[in-house]
Amino acid sequence: MPWRVPPNARQNGTLPDPYAVWMSEVMLQQTTVAAVREYHNKFMALWPSVHDMAAADDADVMAAWAGLGYYARARNLLKCARAVVADHGGVFPADYAVLLTLPGIGPYTAAAIASIAFDLPETVVDGNVERVMARLFDIHDPLPKSKPVLTARAKQLTPDTRPGDYAQAVMDLGATICTPRNPSCGACPWQQPCAANAAGTAAELPKKTPKKKTPTRHGIAYVVQRADGALLLETRPASGLLGGMLGWPGSEWGDAPEPAPPLDANWQTLNEQARHTFTHFHLRLTVMVAKVDARAQARRGSFVAAPDFDAGALPTAMRKVFDIAAPTLRNT
Ligand code: SF4
Repeated sequence: MPWRVPPNARQNGTLPDPYAVWMSEVMLQQTTVAAVREYHNKFMALWPSVHDMAAADDADVMAAWAGLGYYARARNLLKCARAVVADHGGVFPADYAVLLTLPGIGPYTAAAIASIAFDLPETVVDGNVERVMARLFDIHDPLPKSKPVLTARAKQLTPDTRPGDYAQAVMDLGATICTPRNPSCGACPWQQPCAANAAGTAAELPKKTPKKKTPTRHGIAYVVQRADGALLLETRPASGLLGGMLGWPGSEWGDAPEPAPPLDANWQTLNEQARHTFTHFHLRLTVMVAKVDARAQARRGSFVAAPDFDAGALPTAMRKVFDIAAPTLRNT
């Protein structure tokens, strides 16, 4: 992982760049390492320091984030970089409690930065660590109720020497050896003390309280193309899902959305719906397309000329709408 400093390099005095560690931890909230790697490289190339990020154009950062999901993280990235520059002289604070006061940094991320970037003995508990602790101590209470017990166990094991290496090692153990299915106990350095290994219960841990069924919300997305090829887009309100991102004008999302076309036109309803899943609900967007003349005026949004339109800058849900509409549009 490009933001890591391996143990031997650390011993020789190479320290991780707290900015790179912070960036990785924000990106890793809700996203896999495999998906983050490419985005982390891109962001570090575009904005190599916290000063560069603080001075970045919001729209550029939002566009570069497109495809990674959970866009509140991109807005927090900007807010946090600006707070670090304005309130901390452009230096990330080497203190868990102070890190917690920064935008977008919760207890997990603060502990991860304190531990990985500054080698402070903070306890980092992600899903991997929870699984390892549940097995190591053979804890059968289900998640999320068991979180405090698992955290207390993880805390008890956190060493004062090389806590940063230790935190990363336990997370890696969970990601590569103590995996959700078929843990490789034979290759595990904790095989001897592991209570679940002795009891033969590793594969059934951690137990989880069954999740409630994910609800489905419905909406309508309106794709308007002018005769000169321009497409009608709008910036979504800053708060709420996909806040501040570019998207197609649309209805509210709910059980039975009211139509809210951005202009009067001869609308064509496409057969295929755009389907996307957010953390708490599935979204089904009905795609409606209209072709209008070059002088058409919209009640909301603004037309983007065809050469300036970049489907890659749209959030994934909106890109799925475009993929469905594209065959009916001209020159896209
Ligand atoms: S011995 Fe097996 S169950 Fe126990 S921590 Fe190691 S991999 Fe996980």
